[in-house]
Amino acid sequence: MSITPAQRTSIMILWSKVCKDRKWKSGDREFRLAKFSELIGRQLKSTNDVERLDECTKLMAELNCLLGVSVEAGKEASDPSLNRARVIRNQILTEIIPCLEMYRGERLPSDLADILEDKNRWWKLDRPVRGITLMDLDDLPIFRYDKAASKKKFVGSQLKQMQWTLSRWLNTLRNEAGDTIHEMKTKASVPCDCAACKKAEFMREEVTAGETPEEVAADAWFEQEMHKEEAASERPF
Ligand SMILES: [Zn+2]
Repeated sequence: MSITPAQRTSIMILWSKVCKDRKWKSGDREFRLAKFSELIGRQLKSTNDVERLDECTKLMAELNCLLGVSVEAGKEASDPSLNRARVIRNQILTEIIPCLEMYRGERLPSDLADILEDKNRWWKLDRPVRGITLMDLDDLPIFRYDKAASKKKFVGSQLKQMQWTLSRWLNTLRNEAGDTIHEMKTKASVPCDCAACKKAEFMREEVTAGETPEEVAADAWFEQEMHKEEAASERPF
């Protein structure tokens, strides 16, 4: 089954968001083809070459992962643990750390280094000199033998354990400061998805129903590109 024009448009809107986010040139066709080929895992001749539904799904999942917006997307891509790792790191870096920073200020870097070292000392034998960073942690499942139940028990992954630990700590700091989740996120300039904020967002969307100007522009630009590519692929050699 080949992909539909609507799916192509979705891919392009995602791509323009990724480019904006990463400061990539969205109009660079060669670069886009190279990136898409890399994400799909096969050399594409044109964007139109994304013809199978599974490739389209994978590409969209990978693009969503680059944006770090969807945990579900990570599960669909070929190496789920790599994509989930990206999503978890992103959540830690863009949501948890800014809030921790607000409460801990200059003390945060050394706090974090201590927590990272402490939690991961058991696998750190091969890197005695350099400190551990989030990039060293993966999302591979860890199992520990549970004596009481006489079976292996899932205890998260290096990154999940870090996410849980930091979230618990942040919760304690937040309670000590007497902030609600909404107050904390607002002060730290982190997007908040509490009920009140979701409702406000919903009301805004009602007003500006439909696509944003950027989406419309990306769409138009993509259609133009697609036509160019179609024309190019029909050209006899
Ligand atoms: Zn809120």
